Amino acid sequence: MSEAALDPEECPHDLDAEYLYPSDAEVLRMESTDAGIAFVVEVPCPDCDVSLEVTTRTESVEESALSLPLDDAEDVYD
Ligand SMILES: [Zn+2]
Repeated sequence: MSEAALDPEECPHDLDAEYLYPSDAEVLRMESTDAGIAFVVEVPCPDCDVSLEVTTRTESVEESALSLPLDDAEDVYD
């Protein structure tokens, strides 16, 4: 926890996926909800750099061509 960070409630910005990068995001935890698994992800606000906790809901689960851990993740974009 950084003391320099503002309270997340003070961040008025809407998140835009265009300015968010996987390398900036950290999955904090997964939670069981009535709708399935929810992922709680920490991302910095692209506008003011405040740390934000984003909770996502699972919409689909599919088999992936990637194998974890994604050490070679960059190669996917070659
Ligand atoms: Zn912000």
